[in-house]
Amino acid sequence: MHSPDEDIYKMPELPEVETLRRALAQELEGKTLQALHIYEPRLLQNASERELRRALVGRRLRAVRRRAKFLLLDFGEHTAILHLRMTGWPTLRPIKNPRFVFEFSQNKTLYFSDTRRLATLHLVPSADIENLPPLAGLGIEPFQPSYTFENFWAILQSEQEIKKLLLDQRKIAGIGNIYVCEALFASKIHPRRPANTLSKAEARRLFTQIERILARAIAEQGTSVRTYRVLTGEAGNFQNFLRVYDRAGEPCVRCRAKIVRIEQGGRGTYFCPKCQAHPHP
Ligand SMILES: [Zn+2]
Repeated sequence: MHSPDEDIYKMPELPEVETLRRALAQELEGKTLQALHIYEPRLLQNASERELRRALVGRRLRAVRRRAKFLLLDFGEHTAILHLRMTGWPTLRPIKNPRFVFEFSQNKTLYFSDTRRLATLHLVPSADIENLPPLAGLGIEPFQPSYTFENFWAILQSEQEIKKLLLDQRKIAGIGNIYVCEALFASKIHPRRPANTLSKAEARRLFTQIERILARAIAEQGTSVRTYRVLTGEAGNFQNFLRVYDRAGEPCVRCRAKIVRIEQGGRGTYFCPKCQAHPHP
């Protein structure tokens, strides 16, 4: 039997990072960073612990933002960009083996757990954020002004399979395998359709469903398939609302046909062969 393990490489996706962002913003915005300790040197991509300390300690955390799956800790002149990758998890509870610890004023301490040690931390001047790695080159993003139907339609003018195209972060940033499967199901589009064969009506449906599903997932605090947890350590809730993802062999909620799993680019795709019929199989 397959396992959804492959997808923890792509988790968390936009709704999970947004859920963590909101909680971190609520707890830490306005507090001053008083000390920082890096215990996992591999985390640091472009600055030493000393440089990080010099740039950030003594500064007030102005805002916690998000770009695609990246968390942006804005300290004014500089921003720390954190990518959770597979198992990265920020929390305010003391944990064993933290990869870093940020001590803030008012007795708030941020601990970062990362079993697989794949998370990354960049230090960038706040003024240049969008032009610097790792954010340069990310595509349009749901809930941002860049996410217009005109931009979306232009991206679809490609012979690439629609599922693979939607996963390409350089084209549309923030969504991964779980939410792409769900959006294609909701829009009744076969995942192998060449993107440029979608009608305008189909494209519009997909454009809308992507934001609708992501918004719903954010409202449910994200999807906990394996390791993702909210700031307090509890699981998200959207796994209870998945209609095709990881449901191979189960009856479709709309038509009772059996949900199918296929491989696309090494990733599992789940869909209903009846609701999402291919017009030219
Ligand atoms: Zn169906």
